[in-house]
Amino acid sequence: MEKVKCLIIGSGPAGYTAAIYTARAALAPVVYAGLVPGGQLTTTSEVENFPGYPEGVNGTVMMDDLRRQAERFGAVVRPGVVTAVDLSRRPFVATVDDGEYTIEAESIIIATGAEARYLGLPSERKYIGMGVSACAVCDGFFYRGRDVAVVGGGDSACEEALFLSTLCRKVYLIVRKEFLRASKHMQRRVFETSNIEVLFGSVTEEVLGDQNGVTGVRVRGPEGVQRVLDIEGFFLGIGHTPRTEIFKGQLELDPDGYILVGAAVGAALSAPDSNGNTAGSGDWTPSTATSVPGVFAAGDVADRVYQQAVTAAGSGCRAAFDCERFLIEG
Ligand SMILES: Cc1cc2nc3c(=O)[nH]c(=O)nc-3n(C[C@H](O)[C@H](O)[C@H](O)COP(=O)(O)OP(=O)(O)OC[C@H]3O[C@@H](n4cnc5c(N)ncnc54)[C@H](O)[C@@H]3O)c2cc1C
Repeated sequence: MEKVKCLIIGSGPAGYTAAIYTARAALAPVVYAGLVPGGQLTTTSEVENFPGYPEGVNGTVMMDDLRRQAERFGAVVRPGVVTAVDLSRRPFVATVDDGEYTIEAESIIIATGAEARYLGLPSERKYIGMGVSACAVCDGFFYRGRDVAVVGGGDSACEEALFLSTLCRKVYLIVRKEFLRASKHMQRRVFETSNIEVLFGSVTEEVLGDQNGVTGVRVRGPEGVQRVLDIEGFFLGIGHTPRTEIFKGQLELDPDGYILVGAAVGAALSAPDSNGNTAGSGDWTPSTATSVPGVFAAGDVADRVYQQAVTAAGSGCRAAFDCERFLIEG
């Protein structure tokens, strides 16, 4: 069986950045790219907020640059989905493509990302990237001075609505239930924002549009009354699903399935060893360490808050440092 020092699962900004750093540290990383080589940014056209690109950059081009940069230092990027892992002993074992291949790894960096949830309407799918977006921070800027809608009733939807309210003329918040699930503080901020209109008891029936993109959304409100909102941006605020299925039962996850890392792992990190040392002692805090020593997690899969390319890349760098240090110290 092939043996590697460092296996990286995922090829988004977190995975490729971890690959750049671990390759430069002579760990000869092998990266499995998964079903979406390059990650989520390959599903969008223009990325305007990644530092270093004053004119913006096409998401696919940017991720291709990252891949080539990692390969330049010797990272091996392979197609393939890791379909199972055994983290119960080291070296760890990963199974690729349902048993087509197995590989042993001294360490693993998990960078499998999180998938934005959509409503599942055919009309919504049709306009993804043409007015339908699951990321207000990423795409809100394109709708300055326009009218938009956000779907959802929890903290993420309220945050998206509040963010958009600073850029857009009007923000409709479409809420299925008769109340908001968001924190009281968040609710108060939403209700106090004059250009946010909350539509309770409302279900999105269809996203409307033409060849240029979204032009409106049809919602069914209380007592079945239909209403068409004239909007140009339709934002999903119904959360993300971290891709952690294969790690369930092996790593500590939070209730929504995000991998717990660093201080959040708690006992696993702070328990002293026989010499009285803890993993986070001295000048080193392994902020990407999971509950299994030698397994690290970076990017959206371990971050329910920031979920941006630059933060994913930053944590990929940290995971590489943590991993290298772990391998040196045994
Ligand atoms: C439409 C859209 C537009 C966005 N625009 C911006 C923007 O303008 N600016 C910005 O900063 N952020 C933007 N984001 C958010 C940004 O894309 C994410 O925060 C970032 O990509 C997260 O990086 P990641 O490396 O953690 O995961 P991802 O990019 O999600 O990559 C995950 C990788 O893991 C792989 N994978 C998953 N499971 C497996 C497996 N079992 N085996 C092998 N591989 C696996 C996938 O194939 C993929 O390559 C946008 C997101 C979306 C959806």
